[in-house]
Amino acid sequence: QRQIAHATAQAVQAAVAQGLLHDEVPQAPGLDTYRAQGGYALLQACVNGTRPVEDVLKAMEDSGLRGLGGAGFPAGRKWRIVREQPAPRLMAVNIDEGEPGTFKDRHYLERDPHRFLEGVLIAAWAVGVEAIYLYLRDEYHGCRTMLTRELAALQANPPVPLPHIELRRGAGAYICGEESAMIESIEGRRGLPRLRPPYVAQVGLFGRPTLEHNFETLYWVRDILERGPQWFTSHGRHGRQGLRSFSVSGRVKQPGVKLAPAGITLRELIDEHCGGMLDGHTLYAYLPGGASGGILPARLADVPLDFDTLQPHGCFIGSAAIIVLSQHDRAVDAARNLMRFFEAESCGQCTPCRVGTSKARALIEAPHWDTALLAELSQVMRDASICGLGQAAPNPVDGVIRYFPEELA
Ligand code: SF4
Repeated sequence: QRQIAHATAQAVQAAVAQGLLHDEVPQAPGLDTYRAQGGYALLQACVNGTRPVEDVLKAMEDSGLRGLGGAGFPAGRKWRIVREQPAPRLMAVNIDEGEPGTFKDRHYLERDPHRFLEGVLIAAWAVGVEAIYLYLRDEYHGCRTMLTRELAALQANPPVPLPHIELRRGAGAYICGEESAMIESIEGRRGLPRLRPPYVAQVGLFGRPTLEHNFETLYWVRDILERGPQWFTSHGRHGRQGLRSFSVSGRVKQPGVKLAPAGITLRELIDEHCGGMLDGHTLYAYLPGGASGGILPARLADVPLDFDTLQPHGCFIGSAAIIVLSQHDRAVDAARNLMRFFEAESCGQCTPCRVGTSKARALIEAPHWDTALLAELSQVMRDASICGLGQAAPNPVDGVIRYFPEELA
């Protein structure tokens, strides 16, 4: 592993020297700046007893903050569950950000790394964690340099006694964004998802109870605890509560990370946050949740975007990666592209996914789709795959059959 890491580092350096790879280190505010603006005072208040654990747990629960990596499990409840497990407890933070179309974690990491680290340390304190493993996407070279530097600064001048912290590099596998595969990877093995139960909260990293979180979930901890849970719940639209960071890409004038009320519709998001559609493009379809969240037609652009709101339409929001397509795109092409991706990224551990993605890819590359056979295959993949990759892989194909039959005619 050391030899591979060394060879990879040399290759990256050579590519940067040749101008083939951008390796800009983000100019994020450092530790001194963050502390000068009141940073880590909340963590100190927690550790010195001014903010009791129960107060913090209740605020997190009242905020309704849910896991923003895609699964959407309530964060406060997760803290309480892991806290009740026997010590030693560990923590694993997912900064692998491999879902196509998702770039929100990088956006915030590049701009305010210590807001994230303070959230990490507050969660670790509230749950009683002994060691923290940060799992960073390997393609984020500049972020790694910056985060390594800021962690060293924090450890050299800690605001409170720190638990053991390790920064680990992913290796570009999409499946390692799945929480149990990430844990296998941190343990030094191939990233194969585990069968559950037992859940990671009970038997996780190195066999210990583990608090596993996505980057962005922890990024919001300081704001929620300082401003109060009502600040977070006061946002929201169409009956939903909270804030969501949408990674918007595709045929819009101003793509990027858009912090917007949970429950905003695609039409509102494009008009209010993205400057409208690109000139010469009209909305045709959109992917509400990256590669795995399915595909919807323009006529469903007024559905609130949030956890649970898209299920009736066969989709889910996941990590809120919104990919906007216009009349110049075809849903069939998107589905083919995505199934090739899933076939390549399937870890191969279980037959419904390993064989299913391969078979589905072959079926949809044919000029005429055997929709009856594809529907049967989708059902098997959904019912029998071990993890979310195989279960969600049929979503774009099912979406094409359901919403874009004219493309298949
Ligand atoms: Fe691996 Fe796919 Fe099975 Fe998940 S569903 S364990 S990615 S083969």
